[in-house]
Amino acid sequence: MILVTGGAGYIGAHTVRALQAAGFTPVIFDNFSTGHRSFVGGTALFEGDICSPSDLQNVFAKYPIEGVLHFAGKALVPESHANPEMYYRTNVTGGMNLLSAMKEFGVRHLIFSSTCATYGVPESVPITEAHPQRPINPYGETKLAFERAMRWFDESYGLQYLSLRYFNAAGADDSGQIGEDHDPETHLIPLALDAAAGRRPDVKIFGTDYPTPDGTCLRDYIHVSDLARAHVTGLRALLDGRVKSQAINLGTGRGYSVREVVECARRVTGREFTVRETLRRSGDPPVLVAAVNRAKELLGWTAVESDLDRIVASAWKWLMIRHRPG
Ligand code: UDP
Repeated sequence: MILVTGGAGYIGAHTVRALQAAGFTPVIFDNFSTGHRSFVGGTALFEGDICSPSDLQNVFAKYPIEGVLHFAGKALVPESHANPEMYYRTNVTGGMNLLSAMKEFGVRHLIFSSTCATYGVPESVPITEAHPQRPINPYGETKLAFERAMRWFDESYGLQYLSLRYFNAAGADDSGQIGEDHDPETHLIPLALDAAAGRRPDVKIFGTDYPTPDGTCLRDYIHVSDLARAHVTGLRALLDGRVKSQAINLGTGRGYSVREVVECARRVTGREFTVRETLRRSGDPPVLVAAVNRAKELLGWTAVESDLDRIVASAWKWLMIRHRPG
């Protein structure tokens, strides 16, 4: 079985489905602090918290686990500034609890949900995995701390890991049953679609004076279903011993500006909505775009569902289903 910490969250739930479709048997470990019970379906569930060493020991004692996908953690940049302690406790101490339990139970294969936020402000784009890692917020810092811990667990105990550094995860599964649902929502695509649906008065563009073609930030948006498939492919490669421990970027290699995303939301939904240009949000690098060669060479993986219109259309479908009247 494959343990999926945070398997009731946004990216975790999509990956659980992809695992099942590929013939793996996942068990979800989640405390539902941000995960959704409705995302679990008929999948095996162990309700527990990575901050509790005994919860982790109990799940490893209960199931014959051969590999772990680690999504559980805190993942909002503004919240990480407001409460760095919580980020260290969950992402670092909770992560250490997981590594200890894996060591104790002899489980040696781990896929970690990492982030381009570990790079900080890029010195060059596209960003390769060799780019220096200098995070500019506690979120990125705590993810990087766990990446470094895995490296030493590999050296000392033979842990086999892949650290998958996501760029901007977006979109939703075609089924319309799972998707992005954060509270509070801070991400551009769901906020723009909320405005299109009349659920918010407007969408704000944070900064129009960046050194980019249209003055707004460029981001590399990757469909969550592409991310989910990358986890399954990575897990197979790890279990078969075809890859050694390392980090791999997951993105498309192409950036879209905030204005392009807003235009796409108008085009896909066919709805007009108000766009307000405001000041920059602190901590936003002008351009974050992935170099994607390593994922292709090592895993044979490229994004195939991450056309921006397709991403936005899938997120719109998810929003419409979720907020259907009655
Ligand atoms: N953004 C924006 N308005 C919003 C939310 C985000 O202009 O209401 C911008 C943000 O400054 C960044 C891009 O959209 O340049 C993507 O932000 P998001 O929060 O979706 O993802 P992040 O890049 O922070 O992971």
